[in-house]
Amino acid sequence: MAYDVDLFVIGGGSGGVRAARTAAETGARVALAEESRMGGTCVIRGCVPKKLMVFASEFRGLAGLAKDYGWSADRGTFDWGAFRGNLHAELDRLESVYRSLLKSSGVATYDTRARVTGANEVTLNTGEVISAGHILVATGGHPVRPDMPNAALGMVSDDIFDLEELPKSILIVGGGYIACEFACILNGLGVDVTQFYRGAQILRGFDEEARGLIAEMMKEQGIDLHLGTNIVDMWPAEEGADDMPTPAEERHADTAEGPGPVIVKATNGTEKRFDRLLFATGRAPNSKGIGLEDLGVGLNRRGAIEVDEFSQTAVKSIYAIGDVTDRIQLTPVAIREGMAFTETVFRNNPTAVDHDCVPSAVFTQPELGTVGLSEEAAREREEIEVYCTSFRPMRTAFAGSPHRVLFKLVVSKATRKVLGCHIVADAAGELIQMVGIAVKAGLTKEDFDRTVAVHPTMSEELVTMRAPVRTA
Ligand code: NDP
Repeated sequence: MAYDVDLFVIGGGSGGVRAARTAAETGARVALAEESRMGGTCVIRGCVPKKLMVFASEFRGLAGLAKDYGWSADRGTFDWGAFRGNLHAELDRLESVYRSLLKSSGVATYDTRARVTGANEVTLNTGEVISAGHILVATGGHPVRPDMPNAALGMVSDDIFDLEELPKSILIVGGGYIACEFACILNGLGVDVTQFYRGAQILRGFDEEARGLIAEMMKEQGIDLHLGTNIVDMWPAEEGADDMPTPAEERHADTAEGPGPVIVKATNGTEKRFDRLLFATGRAPNSKGIGLEDLGVGLNRRGAIEVDEFSQTAVKSIYAIGDVTDRIQLTPVAIREGMAFTETVFRNNPTAVDHDCVPSAVFTQPELGTVGLSEEAAREREEIEVYCTSFRPMRTAFAGSPHRVLFKLVVSKATRKVLGCHIVADAAGELIQMVGIAVKAGLTKEDFDRTVAVHPTMSEELVTMRAPVRTA
């Protein structure tokens, strides 16, 4: 049977765009629908604008440091409006790059929502019906608010980039990547930041020593971090007003129409007003309402599309990649999944994505770079040696800063392979990309030791740690 296109991609984020382009390069006829802006979460409301905000927020500390190095430097003031204008201009530029890449690859694009209405059929919101040999769902995810009264008072990460002005104070709820990154960014931009995390330590799942140091450094910078703490109740506060007692009947009216100032009662007994509240309480897959369940595509309990190692769903002609499958929610992983899809379906070369040993970074200040197993996860599997050092780095110690870094290697006792590496330091994201190659390649502690140090650097510690701090 002749289809209108060989491939229809739903979702113009990093994964969908890469899959569409690489499939088109094979000569396939490809179409792609995106209901929002081309570029998806990463480019429009995630990694890219977030990283630019990280850069913006770092200047505050630099002015102080420059003084200790003999420069007459004044911190000055931060103009959110000017920055936001430049930020959005950059995002517009990047979106147009995505569009022109799709165009030059010969991919037909539709700026509208699409639903899967058959194993080989997609229906656009415009009413147009398009038949496709294969359908690729790359619809990503969205931030979620907790299910509680007045939750609409809180922003989610998407809202940050559009703020008219920076709040004076903010409460951030959550202890994951997004909560910790925005706590550091907003603190750096001069916002008074309070953070609540319901568990015992932020960044669950990462190496415990690294989590501990990040939390300590965040507090040291002035972030008011409360562990084991959550919201009990919250209600709207007046814009710009001081703390005023709110009558009980108004507190629970649940009339919140959107984000605004809020009074929060917490499990730690405090009741405090914040100009804004940010829920960084996780993300959910965009898998509902696009017709998948009707066709027999499996969704798991969290709503993620169930796929095999080739990203194929229970319906043979339908594949899914990226955050909507909730394997590893990272842009480079979605891109890999997109390219593996093209290899499998359009180059007749079945290619499973390797999700093992994926390096990643949390852009806190300092950053956390990580690859492989945490000490805790490795200990569950086999006997290990731990090599670890934490110290005040030359650059900031010179200025008398208490700022500390951490370099840690988790090593298999039996094979001597480095199973995991964890770095807490400025530019740890850059460093872990390099170490990631060695860890992925399965190099041993002795291979690390044979490498001559680059001096004077912080990361020379990675090749000079002689004795394990502990075995387990
Ligand atoms: P995470 O799942 O990492 O964190 C969610 C946080 O919210 C957790 O601390 C969780 O607590 C807490 N939480 C969940 N529900 C509630 C609730 N009802 N009340 C209070 N707290 C709650 O999600 P993020 O949104 O931070 O990030 C999503 C994904 O996006 C990440 O997993 C990552 O893959 C990706 N990402 C990557 C970045 C990078 O590479 N630098 C940057 C940003 C995002 P608990 O731990 O107890 O469950």
